[in-house]
Parts: sequence; structure tokens; C-alpha cells
Amino acid sequence: MTDNTLPVLAGVQPPVRGSTYPAAIIDGEARFPEGAPARALKSPLDGAPLGSQLLADPALAAEAVERAQAAFMAWRTVPAPRRGELVRRIGEAVRQNKRELARIITLEAGKIPAEAEGEVQEWIDICEFAVGLSRQLHGLTIASERPDHRMMEQWLPLGPVGVITAFNFPVAVWAWNAMLAFVCGDSVIWKPSEKTPLCALAVQTLVGQAIASMDEAPAGLSQLVVGLADVGEAIAADTRVPLVSATGSVRMGKRVAATVGARLGRSLLELGGNNAMIVTPTARLDLALRAIVFAAAGTAGQRCTTLRRLIVHESVLPELLPKLVKAYESLPVGDPRVPGTLVGPLIDAASFEAMQLALDDAKIQGGRIVCGGRRIADNVPAGGFYVQPAIVEVPGNLKVVCHETFAPILYVMTYRELDEAIALNNGVPQGLSSAIFTERMQEAERFMAAAGSDCGIANVNIGTSGAEIGGAFGGEKETGGGRESGSDSWKAYMRRTTNTINYGDALPLAQGIRFDV
Ligand code: NAD
Repeated sequence: MTDNTLPVLAGVQPPVRGSTYPAAIIDGEARFPEGAPARALKSPLDGAPLGSQLLADPALAAEAVERAQAAFMAWRTVPAPRRGELVRRIGEAVRQNKRELARIITLEAGKIPAEAEGEVQEWIDICEFAVGLSRQLHGLTIASERPDHRMMEQWLPLGPVGVITAFNFPVAVWAWNAMLAFVCGDSVIWKPSEKTPLCALAVQTLVGQAIASMDEAPAGLSQLVVGLADVGEAIAADTRVPLVSATGSVRMGKRVAATVGARLGRSLLELGGNNAMIVTPTARLDLALRAIVFAAAGTAGQRCTTLRRLIVHESVLPELLPKLVKAYESLPVGDPRVPGTLVGPLIDAASFEAMQLALDDAKIQGGRIVCGGRRIADNVPAGGFYVQPAIVEVPGNLKVVCHETFAPILYVMTYRELDEAIALNNGVPQGLSSAIFTERMQEAERFMAAAGSDCGIANVNIGTSGAEIGGAFGGEKETGGGRESGSDSWKAYMRRTTNTINYGDALPLAQGIRFDV
């Protein structure tokens, strides 16, 4: 598992020369540019070397955009259900390679196998959704005020879509974007996280095979460029890319939004969360407890929807907190390759340091560390950053609490009245996911209503993480306002035209204006 060869996918090995991985796959061809800088890849599981990743530069990104644009010109005229056929083939290939893809996610992102397979399942699910959608890209017909006129809307392909992704969902986030983009008639240029390029290369290998299997599908439909922020910036600045979908930190999103906005392009932003759960006096604590532990400690706290703030009614805390601490102390943290492990490592040393800094700040600002926070040394590979998930009691939304630390820290605070709990829920700059545990219908409805949670996701009696692909996914405020995946999120990947058709013999003007010549 710790060698640097990737599993063979559908009979093909992702491209590699010796132990060097290509900087890009452009029109299906792996590119190893002379003199390109290289980044040493290490597994978060144990620090084992995974090879050397060549990094693209902005010029290579520009070439990928050019080729994606050429592919778009052909793909946009292919009937949408035929575009769906490509995605159906991709979904089939993913199904057959689910285990192997999940293995790469575990190796490179450190997820436990169950979560890694769950991530690949999300790709399969969004394929199914997109295939159905390919026969449902419909617009409205609208009553015209003029006699013998008809109005309608059409949704047409948009252009090459830039997709910038984060390390923590190295496959699914791209898939949410790309599967919709493909059925919508768009081509895609993907800049994955520099921390997880092997997942991207494996994905691109599978997708390349599906594209090659279909005559109508141009080779340039799916481009991959592996690079640092400068490559992401180049894609964001490129006027040939009408939509840039960027997933990652708020800091990155602000940069991308400014760059895309300066050229009046469109950005779809999926940025950091700071997700809360309210536990009311009527909450079923058995369910709440399981939801809290999965949402707060699962994926080692490295989900955008990770539960970071627990807002507990003051009457419930004395019963809930000891149970939570007990559950935390029995959590199997360790090497995901060991059966039974539920919490794997942090992605890297920087992530561990950020966690320690946040815990120090929490103490200085008035928090009390209830349990966890330390690095684990026993029975885990020495080169990985394994931590005991932490619980910190805080008097409210301290400064440190308002910031998303991408590690397993759960801040616990209390409330008396529901309005106070909702104000705490909303009292941070981010607005991704939220939840309430209650058996009272009025509380649940108030939480979901206009004066309730201000987040893009507001759940009742389930945790903050683990969304299904059928709903629109995304959040408000500093989370960026974007929506991806299900519902009508596909509309972001198309351009809308309004058509007014005159089938009469006169030319009446709207609003009754007369302009007779
Ligand atoms: P990151 O912001 O460091 O990097 C994300 C991507 O942006 C990477 O590909 C990176 O190379 C690129 N990038 C960085 N600076 C850039 C710039 N100036 N211009 C263009 N591209 C740039 O994030 P990360 O550490 O990989 O991921 C963790 C973050 O992602 C967390 O904040 C998490 O909440 C967020 N996230 C959000 C969602 C969501 O759907 N809302 C999903 C997953 C992760």
C-alpha cells in the first residue's frame, strides 16, 4: 500500500515515468514538461514517499483552456441525451473501479476505507443524477403580453468550466461539477489540490477511457492541470472560461472571486464552513450523540461540513457532555488500513500545527479543553499526524471559534432560549451547514424558517455532514453562496436565453409603445 504505484484502473495504469507523475493531461495526453518543478508526494498515513509530482505553469494551463475551448465547440452541438451516454459510461467505469479508487483516496488523503468508498459512491450517484438530467434540461414557456407571440426560455451550453478543488474531497467535488458540466454541454479544466494529484490522475485516466470509447466525445472534454495557486489564478483570470467553480478555503475564494469578478466572469464558490448543532431539551440524546461524534470527529474533522460548534441547552449539558467525552475517549484513531479504525490522520504537519495553535488560542481566550488535542504516538505509523479529537468548552463564539480550523476541534457552548441558540448558530462569518435536535415541531420549524438558521443546509435530527447528492449543496456568507450537485444546481453550468417568437402578421411592441414609421 505504501509503494508509489497506483492501482490499474480498467486495465490502464495512471500515467507515470519512473516515479514521476505528469504535470497535466491535455487532450488525453500525459505531459511531462522539461524542467518543470517537482513536488515530493508523501502519504498522510505514514509519510511514505509516493513519488514526484511535476507542477504545471500558467502557460500549460492556458494551453489546456485553449484545447478545452476547441472541445466545447464540438460538444455543445451533441444532443444532451448523447452527452448523458458519456456520463453513463463514466459511471459504469467508476462502479467497476470503486475499490481501487477508494484505495488511492485512502493512500493520498488519509480517509478510512468506508469514507473513501463513500466518496467514490458520490461520484457514481452524481453520474446517475446527471444521466437523468440529460433528458430534463428544460426551460419554461411564458405567456406573452402581445397577441400571436410566444415566449420561452432555453438553457444552452456555457463554455469551458474551470474547476479548482480542495484536498479533502479529491474525487467527489470534481465529479459534482464535471458530471453536470458534461451533460450541460461544457468542457472542463480541472486544477486539483496539489496535495492530492494522484486521485486526479486516476480519475482522469478513467474518464479519458470513457471519452475515447465514444465517437462524438472530443478528447479535450476533460483537461487536467496539476499546479499551485498560480495555475488556479491563471484559470480564474482567463476570459475564455465563463465559469470558475472553486472549492477550498475562504482565503482562496476571496482571491478567485476578485479575479473572476474583475473580468465579469461567473464564479461558483464552495468555501469554508463553521457548522453548528443545537441540542434542545427534548432532543433524543442517543441519536444526537452518534450524530455529533460522526460529524465532529469523522474524517478527522476535515470536512467542510464538519461539526465545529455544539450549542447545548444548559439543562442538557450535564448529561450530554460526560457521554460525549466517553465516546471520544473510545474512538479508534489510527491507521485507516487497520480494520475498525474510524478516525485517520490529518493531511499534514501544517494542519496539526494549526490545530495546536487554535487550542492554545482557545485557552487564552477563555475556553477550557475538556479532552483530546494531543498527537498520538502509540500504535500509529510514526510519519503520520494522528490526533485525539478535542472538545473545548467555550463561553460563546470566541474569536478562535469564528475561524474555521480544519481539524477535529469541537467547541461546546450553552444556551437558555431558542432565539439565543439561533443567534449563536448564525453568529459566525461562514454559513454552510447547521442542525437542530428536537422532538418539538415548533422548534424545528423555527430553526428552518426565515428567522432561523442562515446556512445553506439546515437539518433536523441529523448531523451537519454527509449530504446526499440529490439536494443543492453549498452555503451563504463567507461560504461563498454557490450551489452544486443536485436540485437545479445544473443551471449554473448553462446560459439561459429568452426567446420571443412572433407568429402573427403585425409587430406589436411591448408595454403598448407605439413607434410607427
Ligand atoms: P485551499 O484553499 O488551500 O486550496 C483549495 C484549492 O485552491 C487548491 O487546489 C489550491 O491549489 C487552490 N488555490 C489556492 N490559492 C489559490 C488562488 N489564489 N487562486 C486559485 N486557486 C488557489 O483549501 P484546502 O486546504 O485544499 O481545503 C480545505 C478547505 O476547503 C476548507 O476551508 C474547507 O472547508 C473547504 N472545502 C469546502 C467545501 C464546500 O463544498 N464548501 C468542500 C470541501 C472543502
